[in-house]
Parts: sequence; structure tokens; C-alpha cells
Amino acid sequence: MSLEDYFEALPELAPDEDESVNLRLLRQGFEAFNQATLKLQTYYRGLETKVDELNHELAQKNKELETNLQEKERVKNYLSNILESSAIGIIVTDLDGIITSVNQTGLTLLAESSEALSGQRLNDIFHAQILPWDPTLENLKVYEKVKEQELDFQRKNGSKIQLLFSISLMYSEFGDILGLIVNVQDITELKKLEAQAERKNRFTVMGEMAATIAHEIRNPLGSIELFASLLKKDLPADSSKQALLSHITSAIHSMNHIISNILEYTKPHLAFTKDIIEIHQFLYDVLDVSQYLAKPNHVQICEKFEAIETYVAGDKELLKQVFFNLMNNAVQAILESGSVTVSTRNIHANNEKLLRRFREFLGPAESLHLIEIRIQDTGLGMSPEVKKKIFDPFFTTKERGTGLGLAIVHNIVEAHNALIDVESEVDQGTQFTLLFPVLSENDVT
Ligand code: ADP
Ligand code: MG
Repeated sequence: MSLEDYFEALPELAPDEDESVNLRLLRQGFEAFNQATLKLQTYYRGLETKVDELNHELAQKNKELETNLQEKERVKNYLSNILESSAIGIIVTDLDGIITSVNQTGLTLLAESSEALSGQRLNDIFHAQILPWDPTLENLKVYEKVKEQELDFQRKNGSKIQLLFSISLMYSEFGDILGLIVNVQDITELKKLEAQAERKNRFTVMGEMAATIAHEIRNPLGSIELFASLLKKDLPADSSKQALLSHITSAIHSMNHIISNILEYTKPHLAFTKDIIEIHQFLYDVLDVSQYLAKPNHVQICEKFEAIETYVAGDKELLKQVFFNLMNNAVQAILESGSVTVSTRNIHANNEKLLRRFREFLGPAESLHLIEIRIQDTGLGMSPEVKKKIFDPFFTTKERGTGLGLAIVHNIVEAHNALIDVESEVDQGTQFTLLFPVLSENDVT
């Protein structure tokens, strides 16, 4: 019974009642009070245990929550690590095609900062219709299956790359479409390799053709040489006609040499002579002859030789063909007047791509010594379409061209494990750059 209940139950005390009655009531009152206190204490203790239990439970829950949060954070980090470390550029857009996030590879590929891209329209960034200009749930349905497209992209720094986009839809756990995931890959190298492979194929065909033609030419050439030598024997040794016959034989030898070379480098595995060539002297010889090409066109030929390490290994005759062809094209590209500049310099490469390309030429110090030779003309230049095809056999834009010059150049350069690259803009002239590994002093002496 609570105290309150007790006082409720008390009878009214009359003033004239017996005092002992009052005492009894008081005792009863105390007893009731004691009982109530005891009850209160038990109740309080119960409450204490309950609070303890609750506290304990709360601590437990807190702990669980914390581990849960940590786990969530870990998963989130894990996912974002995957996203950030992916070798593929990943761009996420909302349903309007507006970029919401881009991973690190994506930023590197496009050479942009995340601030510059966020909030922009994907199509605006690429100046092309990668997504529909007015995306609706209807026309986004095409991305239910991953869609791929290729695009040439020019970065802000001017460099150009070829990109492959694969676009798919991003769904929520309830199956709603949240936006789009755009995977971007740099396929510039791949495309170059593809083009190279195709060129190689065509060259194989050309090689077979060359072999047949060479065979057909060599037979009559052999007869001519035989008859010339017979005639030579019949003529008196002091006859002035002896000199004429010598011309015939030497011309035949030179034709034979050219045929052998053509056959040699159209073969898949090339075996040609490895002369040690001092590039500057070699180029002076080439330029001497090129002067004759230049004169009628009022083309000035300049040289700017800056390389210090200048020895390379290669087939002199084949490399002459390379530079004659390049000089010839440069001079022909200048319609009225202009200049062709031939320059050299050394490059000590630590560029990954070059290192990979010239792996076998790496010296003990893991450094790569190259010589770069440039032939730069102020001629009419080329459109990107022409530039793509110049190394193809039989591609020509000239009325009397054969389209074989650069195809042969390319093949010889490849056979020398060298690199050739071209930069050209219409009306801005053309620059061919060749890179050869240079010989170390030990190799030369
Ligand atoms: P050809 O000279 O017989 O046409 P090439 O293989 O030497 O064959 O060259 C192929 C094409 O490449 C040329 O027809 C021309 O369109 C282009 N070309 C090559 N070199 C240059 C250059 N220096 N300037 C402009 N165009 C060039
Ligand atoms: Mg040519």
C-alpha cells in the first residue's frame, strides 16, 4: 500500500477519542510507511538494474552501429578505390546527360579537372552527340545493351587522341534508371597498330608481286649482262666503245641491287647489311644530290645539324632511298618557292613509350640514346584524310605519282627498328621525324 493509499484509508480522528487509538494508528502509519519505503527501495533497485541493462544494450547497439558504419565506409572506400584505380575512364551522368562524376583515369585521359567537368553536358565536352541531345526515358532505352562508339578528341593542350565510348544505364536497387555510365578508353595506340597491321598485310601482297616482277626482270637482265660481257671480250681493249659497255654493266648491277633490296625488305624477316653510318656525312651526301631536285623549283635547302652522337647501324643504300624519297616529296610539295630544312639532334629518352619501343637498345645505364632527324618543308601540307593514307602502297595525290615512295620508306624504317612520324596541316607545310637508336662509342670503334 502506498502512503497515499494509507492516508486515504485513515478514518477521520475525533477529538474526544481515546489516545491509545491515536498511538495505534500512528504505529500502523509507521509500519505502512516502512513497507512503502521497502517497496520503493526494491522498485528503485529494479529500476537500477533495468537502467544498467538498458545502458549495456545501448553500448552494444552503439558498437554495432559503429562497426556497421566502419563496414559501410570500408565498402564505400573499396568501391571508390576500384572506380579510381580502374584503367578505364568512367564518367557518370544523370538522366539529362549532365556529368556528375569522373574517375581519375577519365580526368587524365581528357586532361581535365573534375571541377571543369562536373555539371557540364557530356556532349558539350566532346563537341559531339555521344548521348541524345534531348535524353528521354524512351530514347535512353537503347543503352539497355552496352553501346559503343569511337570519336577523335582534341584535348585543351592540343594533343589529339582516339576514344572508344561504351555507354550503359545505371539502375537503382529498385530497378529505376538513375543515369548513365560512360566508359572511355584511349584507343590511339590500338588504331595505329591496326593500321600498321593492315599496311603489313598489303605489303606482303606487294612483296609477292615484287618477287614475281623481279624474277621476270632478272632473267632478261642476266642475258643483257652476259651479251655485254661477250661484246666486251670481242672489242679491242683500247676501243672507246669499252667505256660504253662498262656503263651498261654497271647500270645492270645497280638495277640488280635495287631489285635485291626490294625483295629483301618485303621479306618478313629482313637481312640487310648493317653498315656503320655517320649520319651527318650521310645526310650531306643525300642533300648534295637533292640540290638537283630543288633547283628548278626555287626551293632552298637548309641544314641544322645539332646531334653529337651521330652513328647508327643500317643499310646505307636502303637509307638513301628513305631520305631521297622524303626530300623528293618535300621538294614536290613546294609549288612556287619555299624551303626544306633538315635538322638533327640527340634525344636521351626516358619517355615510357620510347623506352618500350626501343627496349632492346637500352644501354647498361637504362638510358636510351636516339638521334632525331627532321625533314621540314614549307609546302602545301596535307589534310588529315591524306595524312592517314600516305604510307599505304599506291596511295598518291600526284598526277604522275606512284604512291610507292612512302610505303617503301616506312618499310625500310621499320626494318631498321626506327620510328617515323609525320605532322602536317594544309598550307602549313609538313614535317617528317625519324628516330634511330645511336651506336655507343664501343660499337663504332
Ligand atoms: P608519290 O610521291 O608517288 O605520290 P609517296 O608515297 O611518296 O607517293 O607519297 C604519297 C602521298 O603523300 C603524296 O602523293 C602526297 O599526297 C603525300 N605527301 C608525301 N609527302 C608529302 C609532303 N612533304 N607534303 C605534302 N604531301 C606529301
Ligand atoms: Mg614520293
